[in-house]
Amino acid sequence: MINVSKIKKGIVLDHIEQGNGYRVFKDLRLDELDAVVVLLQNINSTSLGRKDLIKIETDYRVDFTALGLIAPHTTVNIIENGERIKKVRLELPEKVMGIMQCGNPRCVSNQEKVENIEFTLHNAETKEYRCEYCDGLTKFRD
Ligand SMILES: [Zn+2]
Repeated sequence: MINVSKIKKGIVLDHIEQGNGYRVFKDLRLDELDAVVVLLQNINSTSLGRKDLIKIETDYRVDFTALGLIAPHTTVNIIENGERIKKVRLELPEKVMGIMQCGNPRCVSNQEKVENIEFTLHNAETKEYRCEYCDGLTKFRD
């Protein structure tokens, strides 16, 4: 296995589902960061078999809602002075705002181009969310 040195300060996104790391990388626009970013794919993991992992060597504010949607179960480790100071285990968010669009073409939010619609989690298994305007269900694109 390739050895990637420990980071002094930054964020480690661990336990990303295998194959999902690149998507996290793209969706969180990590390529636009002016910092060292390492994406590791297919690492052996005791709990998952294989996993992906991302290291970001800078102060980076993770969008927990977006990351929770794209890659629930990711562990976010916050590193300072080479030590982990905080660990957050992500889950699928209960409420989502500003990321999703309603899938119902007749919904008023689509006709009037409403932004920041609030969606409420309906089914965690299928990642279906309920629109606050039409009560219709929209599946988060996988
Ligand atoms: Zn709607």
